Formats: sequence, C-alpha cells, structure tokens
Amino acid sequence: MGKPTGFKEFPRQAAPYRDAAARLVDYKEIFTPPDEARLRTQGARCMDCGVPFCQSAPHGCPIYNLIPEWNDLVYQGRWRDALDRLHATHNFPEFTGRVCPAPCEGACVLGITDPAVTIKNIEQAIVDRGYAEGWIVPTPPSHRTGRHVAVVGSGPAGLAAADQLNKAGHTVTVFERADRIGGLLMYGIPNMKLGKDVVQRRVDLLAAEGVEFVTGTTVADGSDGSLDVRALRDDYDVVLLTTGATRPRDLPIPGRELAGVHFAMEFLHANTRSLLDSEHADGAYISAKDKNVIVIGGGDTGTDCIGTSLRHGCKSLVNFEIMPQPPKGRAPNNPWPEWPRIFRVDYGHEEAAHKFGDDPRVYCISGKNFIDNGNGHVKGIRTVEVEWSEGGPKEIPGTEKDWEADLILLSMGFLGPEHAVSDAIGLEYDQRSNYQAEHGRFTTSIDGVFAAGDCRRGQSLVVWAINEGREAAREIDRHLMGSSDLP
Ligand SMILES: Cc1cc2nc3c(=O)[nH]c(=O)nc-3n(C[C@H](O)[C@H](O)[C@H](O)COP(=O)(O)OP(=O)(O)OC[C@H]3O[C@@H](n4cnc5c(N)ncnc54)[C@H](O)[C@@H]3O)c2cc1C
Ligand code: SF4
Repeated sequence: MGKPTGFKEFPRQAAPYRDAAARLVDYKEIFTPPDEARLRTQGARCMDCGVPFCQSAPHGCPIYNLIPEWNDLVYQGRWRDALDRLHATHNFPEFTGRVCPAPCEGACVLGITDPAVTIKNIEQAIVDRGYAEGWIVPTPPSHRTGRHVAVVGSGPAGLAAADQLNKAGHTVTVFERADRIGGLLMYGIPNMKLGKDVVQRRVDLLAAEGVEFVTGTTVADGSDGSLDVRALRDDYDVVLLTTGATRPRDLPIPGRELAGVHFAMEFLHANTRSLLDSEHADGAYISAKDKNVIVIGGGDTGTDCIGTSLRHGCKSLVNFEIMPQPPKGRAPNNPWPEWPRIFRVDYGHEEAAHKFGDDPRVYCISGKNFIDNGNGHVKGIRTVEVEWSEGGPKEIPGTEKDWEADLILLSMGFLGPEHAVSDAIGLEYDQRSNYQAEHGRFTTSIDGVFAAGDCRRGQSLVVWAINEGREAAREIDRHLMGSSDLP
C-alpha cells in the first residue's frame, strides 16, 4: 500500500499525453516525460484494501503483477526495488506500460467509489527509470541444459516464452517471417503508441542474453522457400507456435475489389516499415495524404488507423462503428470489478477532434456497398443505420446514405491464425479455428509442439500474450526436464 490516507488526500491525476497539435506533426510517442512528484503522489493513493483485485485474473492483471507492492515502493522513492518487484512477474513492462488497456485499473478497489489508481502510468515510469539509470542489463543464464527450442513467431507471446526458456538454460531460436522482430509490437501498434526503439532495445537485450533470432523466414510446409515445420520438429526438442491471429475479418459487400479498400494491417504494417526504413522516403506505403478516409471498425486497430491517417495529412476522417455508443459510466450489468465497457476517448479520437473539430465516430451504421469512381477505384461507400435488438443489428429502412471516400480501411477484428504451418504438421483446431491447446498446458495434438498467444486464444491483448508465453515456457520446461522452477 502507499500512504494510508493517500486516497482521501489526492485525486487521480493520469500522466497527460503530449498536446494533440504538437504530436500530430510527428511519429514520436504520445507520452510526456515522467513527473516524479506526481508519480509518488499517485502511488500514495494505493490503499490498504486487503484483497487487491487489481493484481490477478480474471478481472485484474493477467500476469499477476504485484501492484500494491510497487505502488508503495514508488511512494517511498525506492525505484530500484520497485523495478525488481515488477520484473518478478513481468518480462516486458515497457510494452504494457504504454499499450495495455489496464484491466487492473478496472478492478482497482478504490474504483468502487473513486477514480482508480494510475497503475499503468506507474508501471511505465518504473521500467523507463530502470533503463535510464542503467539498471536493466543483459543477464545470460549461468548454465545451459543442452535442450533446444524453436519458437515460431516473434510477438509478445513468442518473446516472453523465449525469455523464460532462455533464463531456464535452454537454447532458444525464434523464427519470424517479417524483416524485424516483435510481431504486432513492431508492425501493428504504431510508433506514436509504442516507439520501435523501445521494442528493439528489449530484443537486443534478449539477443545479448543468448536468444537467437532468425528473420525473413516463413515456417510452413517447405514449399515456396518456406522452412518445413516438420524439419523443425525433428531438429529441435520442442517447437512452440506463437504465430498470432493474423486473418482479418473482411467486409464482403459489392465493390470490395475496388482499389483503395484495404485491410487495416496492410496500411499499418507498410506505414511502419517505410517509416523505419526511410522515414517514408521510399514511398512504400499506402498514403492517406489529402484523401477522404473512412475507417470501418473501432478498437485499438481502428484508433491506430485514425492516428496514422491524420499524421499522413488526410483531408477528412470518419470512423464507422456498427455497435451503439457505450454509456459514459458503468451499466448495471457491467459492475466492478469487470472491465468497464464505457465510452472512451483514445489518442486518435482526440487528435481527430482537434484537427476536424469533432469526434470521428459514427455509431449504429453498416456498409451496404462500396462506390466505384468509374475507373476501378473507390469513391465512397453507401451505408444504412441499424438498430439493435436481441436478434442483433437490424437495418432501418430509409436511412441509406452515401459517403465520399478515397481510402477505406477495414478494421473489423481478426478470425484466428493462418493455417499454413498448422496444416503442414496436422494440428487440430478448436471451434473458432484457433490451434487446439488448453490454457495452462499449451500442448497441441502433436507431441512436442506447443501453442500460445493469439494463435491459441484468438485476438487478444499484449498482456495476455505475455501471460501465455510465460506459462507455456513453464510447461515446456517441465516437459523437457521433468519439473520446472519457472513461475
Ligand atoms: C493494430 C493493432 C493494435 C493493437 N493495439 C493493442 C494495444 O494497444 N494494446 C494491447 O494490449 N493489444 C493491442 N493489440 C493486440 C496485440 O497486439 C496482440 O494481442 C498481441 O500482439 C498478440 O501477440 P502474439 O505474440 O500472440 O502474436 P503477434 O504479435 O501477432 O505475433 C505473431 C508473429 O508471428 C509471425 N508469424 C506468423 N506466421 C508465421 C509463420 N508461418 N512463420 C514465421 N512467422 C510467422 C508474424 O509475422 C508475427 O510477427 C493490437 C493489435 C493490432 C492488430
Ligand atoms: S500489465 Fe496491464 S493489467 Fe497488468 S499491471 Fe500493467 S497495465 Fe495493469
């Protein structure tokens, strides 16, 4: 706990983002530098609640971060100790401190009567301070077991597993089809929310500790230059699949084939890669400059498309959402400590409102057809309003409307993993076409092949991917050695 009376004395003060006008002209992180006095005061708000719901699943932190302990240490100014407590449960707090939606704050006991403790800000400040002070250095394992593990996919699940397995002394090789390591940390979440130097810094640490990274290598059935997953299974003691949920949900309405209609990830991946390779000088990205942009679908991906389009210099921006606008506060069927399903203004919405004067979101709206400009390029979309009942959305006759758009980005979620690697080795699937493997065990239908992260649980969060990577590593260690000391 922090100061016994802290929650009565101090109001919640979240760390502000940089001013919207300033951050819109660059791709630097949206965060402001840490303010030590404010952080200590905010740590003091953590009260002696007895049962800290914030620090455990299903509602609080999925990796069981020891939140009240490090809040107290920050309040006392013991940053080094706070870092050690944070790393005791967490491999990469610099990622979640920036991008986690913070279910812990939704479950904070103080949140029953007052605004929750700013847990996520404090997490980010602890680890950023650790790097700034030079406290985070490579710590290679003192022994090697002689066992070899291949990890396929380098997102947060693969990286967390690799880190844990390497710590246990196994020799780990991570195979990644992209040209850079990090999965959606690198090529999904844009720079302004998670700087790529932050991702690369941790990848470099893992490499210095002995994890081997192989980029530009697709693992599949051995055809078309891919690496055969069956050969990997023969060459390594264990194969762990952490290939993510990369199949996007489509919008198969008339005109879908028109140029200018793209999946969100085509837009975001190319943008970050071109930015990193050449600061956009190579032109190898889909530009929103001077275009009327419509983003279909909300969530983090939709917000990132909004933030990126604004930075390109789009002419207008609208964001369609088929669901109704969430309430301002918790609904009666969404009580504490559940994740609050409430109206939120994320960084992209704030920036759009700054540039165009209004929140870009339009609710209860559905696409009917894309409109052709006569040359095979999209020039707009026809929509209809919907009303919701228990049977789902129902179109409201007479509400059709045409919207002008040169660029339409589809951000409607993901349907699970691709099946190239799993079909090649004959894995079984669950009912949602994810790789079949039980949470807590992570074994697939093939002996010696494990699965973790979004490819197993479906589209989720960075913090859940880290949970799965850590726990899968423990099960792999147990499989290899008969028992495991990994948490
Ligand atoms: C645009 C976007 C923004 C998001 N923002 C947030 C956010 O703000 N906060 C949050 O908590 N979550 C966010 N998420 C969700 C989060 O990024 C994912 O839940 C998380 O990254 C899943 O981790 P993973 O390791 O399971 O898979 P991924 O991060 O998807 O990594 C899988 C990796 O496997 C590689 N791969 C796939 N198949 C093969 C193959 N056959 N051979 C070799 N490599 C292969 C892929 O190239 C990829 O690098 C966002 C997702 C998206 C798409
Ligand atoms: S990882 Fe997410 S849920 Fe856990 S303490 Fe950090 S912000 Fe909260």
